[in-house]
This record gives sequence, C-alpha cells and structure tokens, in this order.
Amino acid sequence: MTTLLCFSSFINRTIIKATLEMETALAVGSRLSLEPTGTDMPVLKDPNGRPFIPGSSIKGVVRFQAERILRTWNRPPHFWACDPFGEPCVPEKSRDGRKGKEELWEESKPSDAVFAQMVFEASCTACRLFGSPWFAGRVAFKDACLTNADVLPIVTQIRDGVGIDRDLGAARTGVKYDFETVVPGARFGLEILAENLEDWELGFLLTVLRFWEEGGIAIGGKTTRGPGWGRLKDLTVQQVGAENLLDYLQTRQMATREVGSLIQAFQEWLKKQEAGHA
Ligand SMILES: [Zn+2]
Repeated sequence: MTTLLCFSSFINRTIIKATLEMETALAVGSRLSLEPTGTDMPVLKDPNGRPFIPGSSIKGVVRFQAERILRTWNRPPHFWACDPFGEPCVPEKSRDGRKGKEELWEESKPSDAVFAQMVFEASCTACRLFGSPWFAGRVAFKDACLTNADVLPIVTQIRDGVGIDRDLGAARTGVKYDFETVVPGARFGLEILAENLEDWELGFLLTVLRFWEEGGIAIGGKTTRGPGWGRLKDLTVQQVGAENLLDYLQTRQMATREVGSLIQAFQEWLKKQEAGHA
C-alpha cells in the first residue's frame, strides 16, 4: 500500500525529455480558422506562428496507453485503471461497495490532508498518476514546440478531406473540406514533469513511452487514415530528490536516471505484486 504523503511534502521531481519525430503528417488542429481565408481546420500555432502539440493531447495518448496496460493486468488496489465514465474509482457518492467522495469527506473531517490521502488511496493507478476529478495528477505534460522548422522545406500543408455521409457511412460527393497538417519529418520537443513518483511508477511511465519509441502510438486527429504516427527519440530522465535539493538549488544540476534501470524497477515491483497476489 502506498503510504506516501504525495501532496504536502517534497520527495522528488523528475523531468523526462524526448524528441517526437513524425513519420507521417500530423493533424493537431483547432476547429476553425479565425482568418477569413483560412482552412477549415488549421494546425495549432504559438504566437510566433510555430506549430505545437498541446500538452493535453500528449497527456491524452499517454494516459490512454497506460490505461490499456493497467486494464490488461487489472490488480486492484495496486495496479489497475477505473472507467471514469462508467465506474470511477472514487464516485461522488458511495456505490457498488466503493466509498464515495462524500463518505470519505465525512470520515476525514476536519483534516484536508487526511481527506486527500484517503481519496488518493481509494484511487486507481491511472488517477493517482494522471489525476481525477478530485485531485490534480502528479504527471504534467508541457506543450511540445516544433524544433526543426529551419531545416524543413515547408512546415505545413493543406490537405483535402472528404465528407462522410452519416447515414450511408460512405464518402459523399460534393462534400469537401480541407485541413492543415504538419509535414512528416517534423520534430517536437516533449517535456514531462513528474512530482513525487516512486521508481516503479516512473518505470511504468517509461514503459508506456517505450511503445512510442517503437512507433506504436499515434497522436492528433485523423490517425486512422494515416496522420499522427511518429517515434520518440533521445529519451532522458533527470531527477532532484529531497536529499540533493540543496545541491540543486545552488548548481541547478539534476541527477541523471537511467531509463533501463527504472523500467527494471517497475518489472521487479510488478513481480513482487504478482507473488503476493498468487
Ligand atoms: Zn480512477
């Protein structure tokens, strides 16, 4: 059981950095252009006109992959994912034998810290890492900016889409729209911040990112028709812990953690859970 008091104290902070190199085009669009001559679905751009991938989109695909692994194993209360829309790990009110937020609040009165800890302990692995309606996650994803605009011949392209007839499920002639994509070969700088994660939790997160290194994760819109596929490269993990916080404040140097050994820590933790489960 995790007894880490995750919110009130500083245990460690980890920064994971990587480059996402697109192998196909990328469609991360805002719905409508504000420009009168704009495309139907333009790519999101920062104030300098540089395309970026919003942190929320990156979080979405990483959480989705993490939940797939968690549901395959499904070992509550240590390693599992709830269905936030069907059966959330901490419902508003008690149901199906699970304590609800209101009941936990009554039990923990009047301490906010005890309440936070009780909700945390009742939560699934995914909510503990990425957040739930009741608390912010311990893993945050920054917007990822395009880093190699200077070497790309063009940065974005307008592509034609075909309208799908909702009733027939087939392409409907005469219904056309266009959407903007970032070209293949584009590179984005990813940065993930994690607060107070145990080594096995970091190893789990890195295991998910391994799928992206192998090209098994797509991001953005229209991924079933091609865009969105790429690979993570140059993954690095840096960490500052309570024991070297003073050093860090003086030198701004974080310690490098080895990806392989963190993944191994996760595998060993999982084996131990399985041994206890059998
Ligand atoms: Zn949950």
